[in-house]
Amino acid sequence: METTNQTQIVDIIVVGSGFAGLAVAIEAALGKAEVIVLEKMKAVGGNSIISDGGIAAWGTEEQQAEGIIDTADRMFEDMMRSGEGLNDPKIVRLVCDHASEAYAWSKHFLGVKYKPRVNLFGGHSVPRCYTPDDISGVSTILRMKEKLASLSVPIHLGVSVASLIVDDQRRVVGVRVIDDYSMTSPHEGVYRDILARKGVVIASGGFGADVPFRQRLDPKLTSDILTTNKRSATSELLQACMAIGAKTANLDIIQCIPWTTPDENGYGKGALFGDYIVSSYGVLIDVKSGERFVDELGNRKIIADRFFDRKQGVIGIADESAVRDAGWDLSSVIQKKIVLTFDDLESLADHYGIPKETLVKAMDDYNEGLRNGEDPCYHKSIQPWMNPIQNPPFYAMRMCVKTHYTCGGLVIDPSGRVLSIDDSIIEGLYAAGEVTGCTHGANRLGSCSVTECLVMGRIVGQALASSTNESRK
Ligand SMILES: Cc1cc2nc3c(=O)[nH]c(=O)nc-3n(C[C@H](O)[C@H](O)[C@H](O)COP(=O)(O)OP(=O)(O)OC[C@H]3O[C@@H](n4cnc5c(N)ncnc54)[C@H](O)[C@@H]3O)c2cc1C
Repeated sequence: METTNQTQIVDIIVVGSGFAGLAVAIEAALGKAEVIVLEKMKAVGGNSIISDGGIAAWGTEEQQAEGIIDTADRMFEDMMRSGEGLNDPKIVRLVCDHASEAYAWSKHFLGVKYKPRVNLFGGHSVPRCYTPDDISGVSTILRMKEKLASLSVPIHLGVSVASLIVDDQRRVVGVRVIDDYSMTSPHEGVYRDILARKGVVIASGGFGADVPFRQRLDPKLTSDILTTNKRSATSELLQACMAIGAKTANLDIIQCIPWTTPDENGYGKGALFGDYIVSSYGVLIDVKSGERFVDELGNRKIIADRFFDRKQGVIGIADESAVRDAGWDLSSVIQKKIVLTFDDLESLADHYGIPKETLVKAMDDYNEGLRNGEDPCYHKSIQPWMNPIQNPPFYAMRMCVKTHYTCGGLVIDPSGRVLSIDDSIIEGLYAAGEVTGCTHGANRLGSCSVTECLVMGRIVGQALASSTNESRK
């Protein structure tokens, strides 16, 4: 192992350049702390930059314009219900109480532009999710990067944190890094130490792409199960924290999403059809039986769990009115033949090998339910904008689950301080974002990760900046 003796010292080291890490760094720098961001990849953004960038918040002007009544308490109840009580109410409370502030911060401080609509995603009791104009995390990350440049905060790319430096009081005082990091030879490179006067913040994201680690936690998540994550979504830093006694929660809860397709890699463009159109306006059909099998607007864990039993696959179906009413442009996925169009249900059934009569009956039953305002089979929450699926062309996509989000991770207190397995605080060690394991419990609701990353990242950055200023007085 090659090492260098040059040791840099700063107030705060942030590891990871996704939403959480950059939010920490912005607030810390605004509070006049000397902060650096370390990122192992050659580009900023982690999973954040490839995400849809959708954020959840209540009491917004968009909700008011549509007459939607929503509160922090309602969002809290939705997140706790979805998390089945495995989430920490103190952290969920914080995330919900500050959700609208975080959304406003992204709009007015960062300058992110959102589509003028409010989306309903499975498990939320009201529409409360907002999608950036570019339907991606790119604009948010680029604006955060610009803010950091204006605050003279360096983001060091290609620098991987290999381990934490702990003093004899068990305080985390710095990190050992590898410069010129490469994922193909992750232990090679020049090692050096960087010390932090105030704290090290772990914002290294989830581990959905770390097949050996995730399979150890959930044996069904073999390499055959694709992922929506970037290949950088691995667990080495989480494990380095565990090696110094950090406590974890819910590690084996690895969320798979059910609206992607095996016909493209990663999250892909088809997810727009699967998530934004099929769940609200369409149906999921089991190829083998030709029947529906779940509430398409149910929470993603329930839907994904049902996919694992359906070895012959699942097709998402919507019709012309659904695609028109949803208002999303499907031209690129149609052109790439990810979403196919059919003149009638019979030819759709023939194409995918679905039993024709059962499919037609399943659609008739569903449509009849919609007309009566109820779904007797799966109790889908029928909304006024949902129409019977009957107008050709019919749109269809092969659908599958992919690992998407790791609900478990480091246990933190409400200031983002990492706890040790004996529940004491590990001094000097902080965490925010997907690497933490307190917010979502059994299941993360759509758009709530971005909210969490911004809320908790800002809280950690502000707390560290004020402790820096206290010690300078
Ligand atoms: C395709 C996709 C779409 C999504 N859409 C949404 C959405 O619309 N709304 C929503 O709420 N959530 C969404 N999510 C989830 C959400 O995007 C992520 O949970 C969130 O962005 C994670 O942010 P983060 O800052 O915690 O981690 P990341 O953004 O993943 O950043 C972590 C960074 O840490 C770096 N890192 C890791 N280990 C080290 C190390 N040892 N040394 C140095 N650097 C390291 C990584 O390279 C990475 O860049 C989506 C996820 C995906 C994959």
